[in-house]
Amino acid sequence: MTLSLLSVASEIYPLIKTGGLADVAGALPAALAQEDVAVTSFVPGYPAVLSALGDSPVIHRYKALMGGPAAIRRGEAAGLDLLVLDAPHLFDRNGNPYLGPDGRDWPDNALRFGAFSRAAADVGSGRIRDIHPDVVQLHDWQAGLTSAYLHYNPSAYRPGVVATIHNLAFQGIFPAYLLGPLDLPAEAFALDALEYHGQISFLKSALIFADRITTVSPTYASEISTEEHGMGLYGLIAGKAPRVSGILNGIDAELWDPADDPFIAANYSTANLGPKATNKAELQRYFGLAEDPEAFLLGSVGRLTEQKGLDLLLALLPEFVDRGVQLALLGSGDPTIETAFSAIAAAHPSLVGCQIGYDETLAHRIEAGADAFVVPSRFEPCGLTQLYALRYGTIPIVAHVGGLVDTVIDAGPFALRRGVATGFQFSPGSLPAMRAALDRAYTIYTQDRASWNQIQRNGMSGDYSWSNAAKEYAALFRAIASKPEA
Ligand code: ADP
Repeated sequence: MTLSLLSVASEIYPLIKTGGLADVAGALPAALAQEDVAVTSFVPGYPAVLSALGDSPVIHRYKALMGGPAAIRRGEAAGLDLLVLDAPHLFDRNGNPYLGPDGRDWPDNALRFGAFSRAAADVGSGRIRDIHPDVVQLHDWQAGLTSAYLHYNPSAYRPGVVATIHNLAFQGIFPAYLLGPLDLPAEAFALDALEYHGQISFLKSALIFADRITTVSPTYASEISTEEHGMGLYGLIAGKAPRVSGILNGIDAELWDPADDPFIAANYSTANLGPKATNKAELQRYFGLAEDPEAFLLGSVGRLTEQKGLDLLLALLPEFVDRGVQLALLGSGDPTIETAFSAIAAAHPSLVGCQIGYDETLAHRIEAGADAFVVPSRFEPCGLTQLYALRYGTIPIVAHVGGLVDTVIDAGPFALRRGVATGFQFSPGSLPAMRAALDRAYTIYTQDRASWNQIQRNGMSGDYSWSNAAKEYAALFRAIASKPEA
């Protein structure tokens, strides 16, 4: 029997994206359809979302929702079945969904995502015409209060609730006085509810009231119940261990396919790796680097933040640049890291290229054109860029943490001999370990091209599609849809 899922996500590819959450929310519906799960995605009505939706019917109106009139619209865009919260006073703002033009969080983010969660709970609890999802999946803190609204406003209908953590570092913590404006009862300010060190936590709400908690890789699922990676919530998560699981993300294998990628200069495959060199030359040209087919070209795409560990790459870059190693980097984030990469690129224009900003097309070109792809994260729930790299024959050099552990097989002597290696790993946060991993990669690239090609092919032949994850999610959804646990 078809199971109906309401997926509540604050971003969804291709309509609005800041990171991996959008990729997951955008790709899962099609994969779940194969498992007989019909997904309706509930997303905020940012300008980009509403314009993609076009003229769409209103299925519910609020006279006032957190300070203004609002409506829920139903429609379709990019093959997604969508419910959209059209609330201009909260979401009619261009650009990044969470940050204002000054680069800081919008000051009313609690109300914005409180309203979003409130409306999601109304849909989830069957209060909106003709919609009774069997399960509601809450993605990250922005959807977190949905479970509190379901809990404190019980209706005859209670769907199964799954909280999915894409990154435990972002928790949605706000002052306690907002409970009233958020229309939550005083009793919600309790240790076994939303209270978190004198404030309220949206993510804690999701975790406390969910029937199941999932995160995006098995290793991260076990890491988050430890003090080191549990971001202050490890006790709560450890206490719910039987209900916590890790389901490894996939990638959109049609969008990220070197054999059929319209964004790259030349398509290629395991059977015909030759044209990858054309992408390398094009990338070198784009960044104004020396067009040397033999130079070892590293790529990097992502948020320039402490989490992603790009400061480690910065620290090691001078010594590798001295050896002729090149870097093509795309990212944005911490202004200090941005400035430092721009400076090193200016100092070594033929070796280091850096573009600050967000550019989906260039991300594809770096994945295709680089020889190796660096992901030095201090923690990493799953990570998608190393999966794209694997698919593109661009060998990942990654920290041994979170989803990076689950997706890359280190080219140690044994794995090399057995022909199963797909990349290089090193202890997270360690400069000497990262130096050694870069060294190992450099040595194999420059001295043993046959092994390098073997590692490339191993990575390219892996299955990174969503089908395994979709099967696991479908089984989990069915388990709680039939019998929601208290
Ligand atoms: P996170 O969600 O923690 O940022 P992930 O690796 O899970 O990291 O997902 C990041 C996604 O965002 C990938 O699809 C990556 O290609 C994309 N991305 C990140 N930064 C940029 C950027 N500056 N330009 C284009 N794409 C980017």
